[in-house]
Amino acid sequence: MNDLADTPIAAAAPAPRRSRQARVAWGSRVVTVGGDAPVRVQSMTNTDTVDVIETAIQVKELALAGSELVRITVNTPEAAAAVPHIRDQLDRMGVDVPLVGDFHYNGHRLLTEFPAMAQALSKYRINPGNVGKGDKKDRQFAQMVEVAARLGKCVRIGVNWGSLDQELLAELMDTNAKRVQPWDAKQVMYAALVQSALGSADHARELGLDPNQIIISCKLSGVQDLIAVYRALAARCDYALHLGLTEAGMGTKGTVASAVAIGQLLQEGIGDTIRVSLTPQPGEARTQEVLVALEILQSLGLRAFNPSVTACPGCGRTTSTVFQELAKQIDDHLRAMMPVWRERYPGVENLKIAVMGCIVNGPGESKHADIGISLPGTGEAPAAPVFIDGEKAMTLRGEGIAQEFHRIVESYIERRFGSVTAAH
Ligand code: SF4
Repeated sequence: MNDLADTPIAAAAPAPRRSRQARVAWGSRVVTVGGDAPVRVQSMTNTDTVDVIETAIQVKELALAGSELVRITVNTPEAAAAVPHIRDQLDRMGVDVPLVGDFHYNGHRLLTEFPAMAQALSKYRINPGNVGKGDKKDRQFAQMVEVAARLGKCVRIGVNWGSLDQELLAELMDTNAKRVQPWDAKQVMYAALVQSALGSADHARELGLDPNQIIISCKLSGVQDLIAVYRALAARCDYALHLGLTEAGMGTKGTVASAVAIGQLLQEGIGDTIRVSLTPQPGEARTQEVLVALEILQSLGLRAFNPSVTACPGCGRTTSTVFQELAKQIDDHLRAMMPVWRERYPGVENLKIAVMGCIVNGPGESKHADIGISLPGTGEAPAAPVFIDGEKAMTLRGEGIAQEFHRIVESYIERRFGSVTAAH
């Protein structure tokens, strides 16, 4: 206990990243990835790319939700022909988010036969496991990389354990079998993933791609597997790294697994862009994966997108749902207003609000927030103290507590963040 008096406990923070910086651009919009750039959020459409309008609308929704790069599948000549029209439609809608093309099997043909598509995309995702077999592999990979190098486009070399280069894996398995103490099969698979990615990156550089145009990913669906492979990647290269748990699943499972895996790696300073690969639940918006990605970055303190509302979970001390409803109302209201407030009140995304259910933790938690309210628990006097900047500012009573608290929050935002606008 004694050394506590002498040695402060260090604050936790994500370790610094040390990757190169890539620039993914469309027109005047440049999204930097890696280096000292913020960790970026990506997503992918699930529309048929041939459907120009539907795809453009979903890209717009994802971009408005916070996706800074949006990937679309380019799987057929018809899809390739649609890409420039999707880009035009987005430009007409004032959406300048860079588009990434996802290529498998026939990317070499599509990128060479559809030059307008190659130009309309800002980045190409190439999966080394799906480029071709035997002597075609190198030739077809080279065709895609040459287009990227000529047009100055970034390439993500995106390895996935579900489509790992089987020839490379077989080769590493043979080598392993000759070891005096063979590795575990999983370790051979890890090595194959990393070697596929880094070997392809070396090859791309030999073909003329600048290392700052290369982004790497090695996706797996197991949390511990993903962490192991990305630690190995980060130790062996300085390319910008795209993180994501592939096939993360639906709902709570996919959300938690992605958050755990991505969060752990980001905390270690590994990862420059993220995607949360959620399977949408029936009726769920595609944008859910973007919202989860934003929450991961905000929870780690890496970026701020929306004001945060801290709410207690409730317990037997509060039998009413008033505080749950108030917390939800406040959260919904803040999110709904953010598109306007982001412009009007710079810095409002850093606001912290607490909505607490009773006196046990209510006043304490509220004092740590910019604005907090401690609602009365069961048996407490029907009064709700409000704390502003750590000081008790007033006590609300009666039926209109929720409405009054809304007004207090809005006037605080106007006072604190509105003055920033005025000063500029
Ligand atoms: S603040 Fe009060 S109501 Fe909320 S969880 Fe704690 S004890 Fe329960």
